[in-house]
Amino acid sequence: MNFIGQSLSRKITSACLAVFLLGFLTTGILLFVRLGRSLAAEQRSQLVSENHLWAKTLETLLRDKGSAEKIQVLLEQLGGDYPYRVTVISKEGAVLADSRHKAAELSTLQSYGERPEVASALKGRAALSTPQGFSILEGTLYSAEPVAANGQISGVVRLALPLETLHSRMAAIRDPLLTGFALAAMLVALAGFGLGKSLTAKLRRLALTARQVAGGDLRRKALIETEDELRTLGESLNHLASSLRQRILEAEGEKQKLTAILENIGEGILAVDAELKVVAANASLERILNLRRQEIIGRNLLEVLFDYKIHAMLLEAVRDRQASTRELQWAGPPVRTLNVSAAGIQDPASVVAGVLVLTDMTQIRKLENLRRDFVANVSHELKTPLTSIHGFIETLLGGALNDRAQSEHFLRLMGEDTARLSRLIQDILELSKIESGQALLNQTPLNLQRESQKAVEKLRPALEQKKVTIENKISAEIPAVLADRDKLAQIFLNLLDNAIKFNRPGGTIILHAEKTGGFVRVSIEDSGPGISPADLPRVFERFYRSDRARARESGGTGLGLAIVKHLVEAHGGEVGCRSELGKGSCFHITLKTSE
Ligand code: ADP
Repeated sequence: MNFIGQSLSRKITSACLAVFLLGFLTTGILLFVRLGRSLAAEQRSQLVSENHLWAKTLETLLRDKGSAEKIQVLLEQLGGDYPYRVTVISKEGAVLADSRHKAAELSTLQSYGERPEVASALKGRAALSTPQGFSILEGTLYSAEPVAANGQISGVVRLALPLETLHSRMAAIRDPLLTGFALAAMLVALAGFGLGKSLTAKLRRLALTARQVAGGDLRRKALIETEDELRTLGESLNHLASSLRQRILEAEGEKQKLTAILENIGEGILAVDAELKVVAANASLERILNLRRQEIIGRNLLEVLFDYKIHAMLLEAVRDRQASTRELQWAGPPVRTLNVSAAGIQDPASVVAGVLVLTDMTQIRKLENLRRDFVANVSHELKTPLTSIHGFIETLLGGALNDRAQSEHFLRLMGEDTARLSRLIQDILELSKIESGQALLNQTPLNLQRESQKAVEKLRPALEQKKVTIENKISAEIPAVLADRDKLAQIFLNLLDNAIKFNRPGGTIILHAEKTGGFVRVSIEDSGPGISPADLPRVFERFYRSDRARARESGGTGLGLAIVKHLVEAHGGEVGCRSELGKGSCFHITLKTSE
C-alpha cells in the first residue's frame, strides 16, 4: 500500500509538472518565435529607414570631389554606440568610407560591387540582404541604397546590422522569464506533491478501513473529512460494512437457530456430500454411535459406519433424490437398533447431497422385550398355581370331597397355592409401584442396628425351623441412614429370607455394616450353596431363579431381589453380590448416611 501511495503521490507531482512544462514550453516557444520575428521586422524597417536617411544625407556630400575623406571622418565620429556599420561605396564598387575601418585601411578592402545588395543598389534599386539559414537571430543584416543626385547614381550607402543585438534583446526578455518558470515549476511541484500526499493519506486511511472491514472488524468506520469524491467512497465503504454486518448477523442468527435445533434434537443427524463424505454431524449422532465428530468429518460414510446397508440406503437416496426409512441392527460397537431415514437433497447446487437421520430404538426395543418377557413370566407364574388349584378342585369334585382326610389335604394344598398367588400378585404390584415412581419414600434417619434386628426377629420362626444361626454384627456406632422405614424393612426381609431359604440346615448368617464415604455398606453373608458365576449377574433380574424347581419349592416368586434392587436404587444406593459355589453368598447394599 505504501508503495502505491508513494507512487500515486509521485504520479500526481509528475503530472502537474508535465502539464506545466508542456504549457510553458508551447507558450514560450510561440512567444519567442513571434517576438523574434517582430523584433527582426522592426530591425529591418529601422535599417531601411536609417539607410534611406543616409542616402539622403550623402546625396550632396558624395557629389563633391574629395568628399570621401570627409565622409570617412564623419563615419569615424559615429562611435561604438551607433549600432550600424555604415559603408559608402563608389559607383565602381570601391569602398569610399566605412564606419568600422580607419581611412588607411580602406584601400586594402576588396570591391563591394559584387555584394548582392550593393549590386542591386548600383542598379538603382534599394536592397535588403537577410542572413541565410534557420535562425533569424544570427548573422548580419545588410541594406544598400543608391545615393543619387540629379538622376545620376553617385554611389551606394550600405548599412550592416549584426543580429547579435537582437539576440541580446531576446536574452534580456528570456532570462527573467526562465527564472520565473523555474520558480513556478518548483511551486507546481510542491503543490502537486502536497496534493498527492493529502490524497494518498486519505486513500491510505480508506484502504486501511477496507482491510479491517475485510478482516472481520465490521464496526470499523471510515472517517469522512472531505467534501469530494473520496467522501462518497468513504460513505459507500461504511454503508458496505454496515450492510455486511447486518447480513452476517442475520446469517449468524439463522445458523445459531439451526445449530440449537440440530444439537438438541434427540435424533442423530449426519450430512454427506455427493461423494458420500461426511460434512456435518450433530451431538446426538456422536452419542448414539459413540463417535467423535472431528474424527469422521471428511471421511467416507462406509469408512465411518462400516455398514453396507446404511451406505446403500443413502447412496440410493442421493442418487434418486428420494427418501427411505427402515429399522436395522447396527453392529457397533455399541450394538444398536436404529431407525434409519436416508434422504437425498433436491438442490443439485447444495454442498450437502444427503442426510441420515438415526433414531436410537435400542432402549425402546429392549423395554418392549422386557415387557414381553415379563408378561410371559407373569402368565407362567400365575398359571402354575392356578393349574394346581384347578386340578385339586377337579379331584374334589370327582369324589375326593367325600373323603374328609383327603379333602382337608387338598384344601391345604390349595391354600398354599392361593397364598403363593397372593404373594406373587403382591410382589408384582410392589415392583410396578416402585418402577412407575408411585412408591413415595418417606425418608428419615434410621438406626441400622435397630431396623435390621427388627427384621431378624420377624424371621425368627423360619431361622429356628431351619436351625440357622444369625449373627448381627451391625454396631450401634454405625451412622444413621436416610431411608423409608417400611422399605428398609422390606429390603432386609427379602435379603434375610433368601439367606435362610438358600442356606443349608444349621448354617449361619452374618450381618455386617461399614461406613464408606457418605454411604453405609450393609452386607448379608450366608453359608448356603452359593451362586454359579453364570447366574450371578442375573440374580437381580425379575423372575430369575438359578434353580427354578428348588426356588419355587421354597415358595419364592423370583421377584424378591428385583424389588430389593429397585428399592435401594430409589434411595440413591446400589446393590451387589459376591458368591462362591459351595461356600455361600454375600449380598450387599449401600445407603446414604443422614449426615
Ligand atoms: P425368590 O423369590 O426365588 O427368592 P429372588 O429374586 O429373591 O427370588 O431370588 C432370585 C434367585 O436368586 C433365587 O431363585 C435364587 O436362585 C438366587 N438367590 C437369591 N438369594 C440367594 C442366596 N442367598 N443364596 C443362593 N442363591 C440365592
